[in-house]
Amino acid sequence: MSGIITLIGRTNVGKSTLFNSLTNTSNAIVIDEPGYTRDTQQGICSYNNKNFIVVDTAGLYFEENKINETIEINTFETISESDLILFLVDAKDGLVALDKLILEKIRKLNKKIYLVVNKIDKCKTTEEFTELGLKNIFKISAKNKSGVSSLADEISRSFSLPSVDLDNNYPSILIIGKPNVGKSTLSNSIIGKNKQLIEDSPGTTRDCIKIPINKYEKNFNIIDTPGIKRKSKSHKHSEKISYIKTLEFVYYSDLVIVLIDATQSITDQDLTLIKAVMDLGKSSVIAFNKTDIIDEYQRQIIQRDIDIKLKFASYIPIFYISAINSTNIKNIILSSLKIIEHSKLSISTPSLNKIVNEAVDSHQPPLVGKKRIRLRYAHQGGNNPIRIIIHGDMAERLPNGYKRYLTNYIRKKIELSGVALFLELRNK
Ligand code: GDP
Repeated sequence: MSGIITLIGRTNVGKSTLFNSLTNTSNAIVIDEPGYTRDTQQGICSYNNKNFIVVDTAGLYFEENKINETIEINTFETISESDLILFLVDAKDGLVALDKLILEKIRKLNKKIYLVVNKIDKCKTTEEFTELGLKNIFKISAKNKSGVSSLADEISRSFSLPSVDLDNNYPSILIIGKPNVGKSTLSNSIIGKNKQLIEDSPGTTRDCIKIPINKYEKNFNIIDTPGIKRKSKSHKHSEKISYIKTLEFVYYSDLVIVLIDATQSITDQDLTLIKAVMDLGKSSVIAFNKTDIIDEYQRQIIQRDIDIKLKFASYIPIFYISAINSTNIKNIILSSLKIIEHSKLSISTPSLNKIVNEAVDSHQPPLVGKKRIRLRYAHQGGNNPIRIIIHGDMAERLPNGYKRYLTNYIRKKIELSGVALFLELRNK
């Protein structure tokens, strides 16, 4: 069981609204920097003390009245590796041909499917959907949040993420990146002579283990994926960690090192991984590996790419390393441990209010019609990721640009480099 569920349905049936409502992120910072395309988004839903990861496929794949035949294999892999598909339809539109087509496709994956009839606030009769022959039917209004908790309740009973045995409370670091970027080389360099011990340990058949490390006078864990590596031994360079598996490992970590191959600069695959880590609210650092073999020209390309492509992730610190030569590894580990400490920060309510008031004084929130949005009171709603809840008049209507301004302002005042920060705006 992966503990991951996927939302599927045609455009405009309300997938994003349901995603927001399940993951409680309706007012989270929306990343809308230029060059940032949100193809999928992922978040964590906590219900009944159980957690599961929700992946929203964002209507990319089913457009107008046909299924986009260029559906990426990856998308289907993502769907097929998740535990459950939430198949959304629209009560207002009724059953349309494309719904049947989509269902036909996803049925072939032999996955558990829940039919979610959305927008029941607009239309109460939902009988026509029974012809689809799906047993589990949930009638909801994602917008009004009605029926969503019984859906979450049902999911949490059967599909939550399994808890991993924690032998210690030390912070856990995960290294991710596309194949051949140097993940094994880096983790071997950190793990050092403990490696043999790990490969021989009985736990290695599991997908994910935490390896306790004592180095640089610090205790921490490296999350290792021996089950997957073992496969790659027999097929050299064919290692492929599925996207779903990566999300699961991210969930179990305290900080993620996203490795990028400096010889290739920043690829779309790298960006997808960074985005997923941000969506899941994990602290992170980015490391360009193989810097021992790049020349001045490649360095310039990387710098240009950072300025353009990584603008949306500007709070994440960047390191230049060579895993093979162990260059800069101590620095990246010590900085990562510091970031994990910062992610557990408690910000006092008076100082938070002072910062928000200062931000508002130097740049007022915009008007909605003739009335100005007013932000009245802020407090911290949690840490790791840091959640800041701001109450106010029409606060929920705050535009993304202003949310970004506020986030940046708060980041400037509090040392939160590498730490995920979510804003939640609530109407008074
Ligand atoms: P993984 O698939 O991400 O685990 O990548 P590996 O650790 O297996 O590394 C893939 C290839 O890149 C291997 O041939 C490594 O020797 C090489 N490699 C890894 N790190 C470095 C580095 O810092 N510099 C150079 N020049 N090569 C590296």
